Amino acid sequence: MRKTILALDQGTTSCRAILFDYQGNIIGSASREFRQIYPQPGWVEHDPEEVWQCQVEVICKVLKDHSISAEEVAAIGITNQRETVVVWDKVTGKPIGNAIVWQCRRTAPICEDLKARDLEETFRRKTGLVVDAYFSGTKIKWILDKYPGIREKAQRGEVLAGTMDTWLIWNLTGGASHVTDYSNASRTMIYNIHDLCWDEELLKILDIPYAMLPAVKPSSGYLGTTRADLFGMAIPITGAAGDQQSALFGQACFRIGEAKNTYGTGCFLLMNTGDKKILSSHNLLTTIAWGMDEKIEYALEGSIFVAGAAVQWLRDEMGLIRTAAESEELAKAVPDTQGVFMVPAFVGLGAPYWDMYARGSMFGLTRGVNRKHVVRAVLESIAYQTRDILSVMEEDSGIKLASLKVDGGASANQFLMQFQSDILGVNVVRPANLETTAQGAAFLAGLEAGLWQDKNEIEKVWSVGKEFSPEMDSDRRNSLYQQWKRAVNSCRSF
Ligand code: ADP
Repeated sequence: MRKTILALDQGTTSCRAILFDYQGNIIGSASREFRQIYPQPGWVEHDPEEVWQCQVEVICKVLKDHSISAEEVAAIGITNQRETVVVWDKVTGKPIGNAIVWQCRRTAPICEDLKARDLEETFRRKTGLVVDAYFSGTKIKWILDKYPGIREKAQRGEVLAGTMDTWLIWNLTGGASHVTDYSNASRTMIYNIHDLCWDEELLKILDIPYAMLPAVKPSSGYLGTTRADLFGMAIPITGAAGDQQSALFGQACFRIGEAKNTYGTGCFLLMNTGDKKILSSHNLLTTIAWGMDEKIEYALEGSIFVAGAAVQWLRDEMGLIRTAAESEELAKAVPDTQGVFMVPAFVGLGAPYWDMYARGSMFGLTRGVNRKHVVRAVLESIAYQTRDILSVMEEDSGIKLASLKVDGGASANQFLMQFQSDILGVNVVRPANLETTAQGAAFLAGLEAGLWQDKNEIEKVWSVGKEFSPEMDSDRRNSLYQQWKRAVNSCRSF
C-alpha cells in the first residue's frame, strides 16, 4: 500500500512538495513562493510561520491533486536551504523574530571579531568551515544578543534553535522531535565534524547554550512522525539533508571521487571524499555529506558566486538575449569567441582566488566581436570557473575526477555542457531526472522506509539523461585555459 515517498524541498524562495514512486519517478509536485524580507541592505529574513504554512499547503495540494492519501505515503524526506536559522519558544511554538537567511550579512562584524581574536583556525579545524556570516552559529548568537532574556530561557531549554529542517520537523511532529541531520549540523559552524558533537569550546566562544540545540541524527533514519491531524494520518519522517548534500545523494555520487555540479544562480560543486575529512589548502569547505548506517561520509565543497546570474545579466542588464535559453543558439552560431574572455567577478572571486575586490571584466575585444561572441564568452566563463574549482579539489584530495554529474537550471544548456566536457577533458553526465535535490531527500527517506534496500538499488534507479564527451584536443583545451587564467589575473589587478 505505502509505495510513495513525499519529498519536501524547503528552498530559499519557495516550498515544494514532490511525490516519488518507488522507481524514483516523479508522480507530481506543488510549489509556492514565500516572502523575502529585506529589513536593511545586506539583511535577508524569512517569516518562519509563513514558511511552515506554505510547506503544509503544498503538501496538501500535491496529495489532493494526485488523489494520494497519507496512507499511501511510506515516508517523508526533507531537504532544505542550508544555514538559515530559526529560534523559537518551546512552549508557545512562536518564533523569536524572523529566520535569518544564509545570504544575510548582518553577522559579518561578529565574524570580523572572531578573526581579530585569531579564532578562525579553531573554527576551521573543528568545523571544516571558514569563518563567515553565511553559517548559522553567528546568526544564533545575534538573536540571543538582540532579545533580552532569551539566552537565559535557552539555557533552561525553553527556547530552541534549528535550521529549516529542524523547524519543519518540530512543527510536523507537533513539537515531539527537535532534531537535525549530520549534513545540516555541519553547516552551523558550531558542530565538530571529527567528534560528531556540538562543540563546547565553540559554543562558549559564541555564547550559545547547548540546551537549545537539536539532537543530531542520521540523514537516513527515523526522525519523527507527523501529527495525525495534519494530513489525515501520521506519516514517518525518515530522511533529511541540506540541499547540496541532498543533490549529491540524488546524483548517486556514492563513491570516493564522484562529484556533482549544480548550475543555478551560482554553482555548487561537491565531491564525495568517503570517510576522509580533507582539509583544503585552497579554502574549499570540508563538510559532512551524510551520515547513515553508523557511518559518516564527507565531501569537499566549492562554490562559484556568479554562474547563471551572468546569463540573467546578459538578459536583464545588457539586453543581449531575451531568454536564458536563447544563449545556447547564439553561442552555437559562432565557432569560438574570437578570443574574447569574460570574467563575471561581479561580487569578487571565490575559490581558488578569494579576491573580494576583483570585478567583472571582458578581455580581447576587437572590431569584429558581436553579441554572439559575448554571449558565448559568458557561457564559457561558467565552465572555466568550474574547472578552477575542480582543479583545486583534485589537488586537495589527490583524486582525479572521472566524470562530472550535473544538474540545476543552466545544465539544460547543451552548448555549456559540451564546452564543460571539452574544457575539463572528462565526461559530463546529466541525469534523466534533473530534480536531484528532491530526489536525494526521497532516496534518503526511502532507504530507511524500505522502498530501496541499499545504495546499489538506488544506483539502478538513477539514470543518465545525456552524456557529453570531450571533443576538443588537449592542446586547444590547455591553451584556452591558460588564456582564461590570464584574464582572471588581469581582472584582479583592476
Ligand atoms: P536557482 O536554484 O539558483 O534559482 P536554477 O537551478 O533554477 O537556479 O537555475 C536558474 C539559473 O539558470 C538562472 O540564473 C538562469 O539564468 C540560468 N539558466 C536557466 N536556463 C538556462 C539556459 N538554458 N542556459 C543558460 N542558463 C540558464
